[in-house]
Amino acid sequence: MYFSKSFIPILKNNPTEAKIKSHQLMLRVGMIKQSSAGIYSWLPLGFKVMKKIERIVREEQDRVGVQEILMPTIQSSEIWKESGRYEDYGEEMLRIKDRQDREMLYGPTNEELVTEIFRSSIKSYKSLPQLLYHIQWKFRDELRPRFGIMRCREFYMKDAYSFDLTDDDAFFSYNKFFLSYLKTFKRLNLSAIPMAADTGPIGGNLSHEFIILADTGESKIYTDKRIFEVDSSSTMIEKSSLNDLRNQYEKFYSVTDEKFNKEEFEKSVPSEFRLSTKGIEVGHIFYFGDKYSKPMNATVDFNGKKEFVKMGSYGIGVSRLVGAIIEAKYNYNDEIMKWPISVSPFDCAIIPMISKNDSSNLDKSNKIFEYLKTKNIDAIIDDTDENISAKIKKFNLIGIPYQIIIGNKTEGSLLEFKEVDGETQKLNIDEIASQISKAKSN
Ligand code: ATP
Ligand code: MG
Repeated sequence: MYFSKSFIPILKNNPTEAKIKSHQLMLRVGMIKQSSAGIYSWLPLGFKVMKKIERIVREEQDRVGVQEILMPTIQSSEIWKESGRYEDYGEEMLRIKDRQDREMLYGPTNEELVTEIFRSSIKSYKSLPQLLYHIQWKFRDELRPRFGIMRCREFYMKDAYSFDLTDDDAFFSYNKFFLSYLKTFKRLNLSAIPMAADTGPIGGNLSHEFIILADTGESKIYTDKRIFEVDSSSTMIEKSSLNDLRNQYEKFYSVTDEKFNKEEFEKSVPSEFRLSTKGIEVGHIFYFGDKYSKPMNATVDFNGKKEFVKMGSYGIGVSRLVGAIIEAKYNYNDEIMKWPISVSPFDCAIIPMISKNDSSNLDKSNKIFEYLKTKNIDAIIDDTDENISAKIKKFNLIGIPYQIIIGNKTEGSLLEFKEVDGETQKLNIDEIASQISKAKSN
């Protein structure tokens, strides 16, 4: 891909309307474009990142045995009346009418719809557990949409739902999601901590929010720093191993605002480990038993009796994660962004110095591009006639983690290669390719 042909509308200066760094950067490098308050179009750079995040989220759901479905964005009000949430949800719900005057709504979440799907097909406890997820746009008419795609009205969410016979089975399902969330955020190079949370309008009594630390976060959090040391790498998808993992986390005091109790915090966390700071909620899991199955009559046969299924729901803010990663990785003062290679819009930027009447550096770039392609490395060539330092600055901002610079200093087969935030090295193309491939495989 040539930069001159790409749709990456870069702004010269930081947009003044944006208050936090992720919003500024996303507008500045043309990842998104606002279409109306809290509603955005995703341009190629932003869309590529979001799709890569989505893929990781999907793989980690599949890995713990969750089955993917796709429910529509538009729902009928009937099922929401059954659950009793049609009125409760209030003004955040965007309500619409079709031409038959039927009350419809743009889905803010899918507990009702998935329960309706479940109850119409699953009749026996022998088909349990059922774990279902989808990745779909949601609409919540937020009172104050702000911070770009971090709190918007239309956003992309992975939401999953579990159906079990007993509480004990349901906790097992819950814990599978708990593990899959830790693995997902790790692959995004984020350290997300699970925190005991309030269940809010979803209801129920067991709930964790997954929070990444960031000064611009909207959640106030209180935690024991030792929680960062908990390691899930050897956890198996098996009841006792998963229980152990949750116990290891729950040993440490770690809560959001609503659950905070000063006395308890000071009693259970030695002062040197106390951390009270802000964070961004990137995921939220809930166990709520029969809160929806009861009013919606979702049952299974068990020994001749009808039992209400026990349910949980599990969300990840896929579009919010794009901003959350920026909040975690963007070095605002030096204007350097570094995408984790797992979600970077390109793996590598090829930045040639181009002078009039001399196409040799561009020819060289094309060859490097073709070679990298054979190694499955996705590069972008800056073929514009900007000067080299302007180009480097631009790519520092775009955040592709690796740069190959082809200028006066390029000698023989050695190329100038650097990580966006690192020192320049002189390497041949094979060494460069293997360094990038190695990073990609981690
Ligand atoms: P918040 O407390 O941030 O308003 P929530 O608790 O209402 O979020 P959930 O119902 O738990 O949200 O949704 C699951 C995930 O979807 C959240 O953890 C978050 O990452 C994402 N999300 C929720 N609301 C928004 C929004 N308005 N814009 C972008 N992402 C959102
Ligand atoms: Mg939440």
